[in-house]
Amino acid sequence: MVKVTVWNEFLHENLHEEVRRVYPDGIHKALADGIGTDGFEVRTATLDQPEHGLTDEFLANTDVLIWWGHMGHDKVEDYIVDRVHARVMNGMGLIVLHSGHFSKIFKKLMGTGCDLKWREADEKERIWVINPAHPIAAGIPEQFVLDKEEMYGEHFDIPVPDELVLVSWFEGGEVFRTGCTFFRGQGKVFYFRPGHETYPTYYNANVLQVIKNGIRWAAPSGAAAPIRGNHQPLEEIKPK
Ligand code: ZN
Repeated sequence: MVKVTVWNEFLHENLHEEVRRVYPDGIHKALADGIGTDGFEVRTATLDQPEHGLTDEFLANTDVLIWWGHMGHDKVEDYIVDRVHARVMNGMGLIVLHSGHFSKIFKKLMGTGCDLKWREADEKERIWVINPAHPIAAGIPEQFVLDKEEMYGEHFDIPVPDELVLVSWFEGGEVFRTGCTFFRGQGKVFYFRPGHETYPTYYNANVLQVIKNGIRWAAPSGAAAPIRGNHQPLEEIKPK
C-alpha cells in the first residue's frame, strides 16, 4: 500500500459558493475519493489544522504528498515548507497540482520563479501524451479533452524538466508543459497542471488516472540514502 496524503489549503470551497457547488466537501475529499483504496492508503490534511496537518509524524508516514494551493500560499509557514522539502530530499514523493506552481514548496524545489500565462475563459484544454513509454501515461489515450478549464500558457518559468510526459493545448492557442517530472535528492516530484477550482476536473477519469499513475511513480524507490563527506577507500590504494 502506498501511503498518500492529499493536502489542500481548503479556502476557496469555504469562501466561494461556485467552488462549493463543485467540491462540496473540498478538493481534498474529491481527490481522496477519486484516488480510492486500490493499492493506496489515503489521508487528507488542510491549512487550518495545527502545523497545517503536516506534523513530523504525519509526514514520516507519508510516501507521496499531493499539494493543492492557490490563495493561501503565503499562509503556509516557512518551517513547514522546510519540513516538507527535507522529506522530499530524503525520498517522499510530491505531486503538485495546478496553482500549486506558485506554492512555496514548489518554488523552493525548482529554484525559479515558476510564473506563467493564465486566463479564465471557460475554454477547452486538450492534453497530449508526448512520452507514451512513461509510467505516468499508463492507460491514458493519446490525447483527451477537458471541456472547460483555466488556461496556463508558456513560458512556464521552471528548470528544464527531467521528463516531460504531457503537453496541453488550449482553445485560445497557447500550449503548456502540463505533466513534468523532476528528481530532487532521493525524492521525485510530479507537476500536473489541470484542476482550476471552479471546474469538475478532479472527477475526470483520465485526470484521476494520471494522478494515480503519478502516485505510483513518485513513491519512494527504496534506494539506500547516499553517504557524503570524507570517505574511507573501499579498495586498497597502492603507494605510488
Ligand atoms: Zn486556477
